[in-house]
Amino acid sequence: MNLNRKVAIVTGARRGIGKAIALKLAQLGAKVCVSDISQEDCEAVLPEIKEAGSEGVAVKCDVTNKEEVAAMVQTTKEVLQTVDILVNNAGIYIQKPLEEMSEEDIDKVLAVNLRGAINCTKAVIPHMKEKNSGKIITIASIAGLVGFANSSIYCATKGALVNLTRELAAELGPNKINVNAVAPGVIDTAMTKNFLENEEIKKGLLANIPYGRIGKPEDIANAVAFLASEEADYITGVILPVDGGWLTL
Ligand code: NDP
Repeated sequence: MNLNRKVAIVTGARRGIGKAIALKLAQLGAKVCVSDISQEDCEAVLPEIKEAGSEGVAVKCDVTNKEEVAAMVQTTKEVLQTVDILVNNAGIYIQKPLEEMSEEDIDKVLAVNLRGAINCTKAVIPHMKEKNSGKIITIASIAGLVGFANSSIYCATKGALVNLTRELAAELGPNKINVNAVAPGVIDTAMTKNFLENEEIKKGLLANIPYGRIGKPEDIANAVAFLASEEADYITGVILPVDGGWLTL
């Protein structure tokens, strides 16, 4: 499996799952646009992209801002020549009961998780259609497939991404654009730090994971790399749980 001569954009790639994806794609030969809300933090990932054996470009992009999204795609095309792979990874999580979610909280989670992925996807489709090829991979969540208490809007956005993935696979199949999603279980990142530092909560989470360990960002990156590869050309519209078996219980 290799991604030689491929160019990928990864959103929310300054740390966590996004960074692991950027590095994995680079290891397999892809050039990578490392994108996130801080230019400085994106640039800090570039030496690691180089160490992984590839090259990249760092672009500040708030996925909720359509002008910045357009500029991210344009810069990638100018500097890295094309866009073959889009990974919609940027996301935020606010844990509160619905009645305690402020209007601002609700709008923010909807804007980043759902509207952000829509903005980025819409921005790459014309180029991918011209090439008659492309891979769009969205990081959804098992929270888009089952309910998690006190996570209403997060679950709603991830559920929406799941069905957006299926719809776009149907819409873009004739253009040979594959649209898939990965649904991570509990992964050890800054997003889950609060839970995982609490031994009681961690124990409760592990009780739901038949495989017996918390996921690593690299577990998600490996799944994304496969979906981005030519080996997965006939796979589209799939939601791939990477959860140590959480959904089997
Ligand atoms: P992190 O918080 O570590 O990384 C997410 C990155 O996205 C951060 O750098 C964050 O910046 C950035 N980001 C936030 N808002 C925007 C925006 N508007 N535009 C661009 N970038 C933005 O989280 P994870 O690595 O854990 O999560 C990555 C993805 O995986 C998310 O979509 C998440 O929902 C999903 N996921 C994670 C799971 C887990 O257990 N960790 C489980 C299931 C799904 P900042 O920190 O400044 O906000």
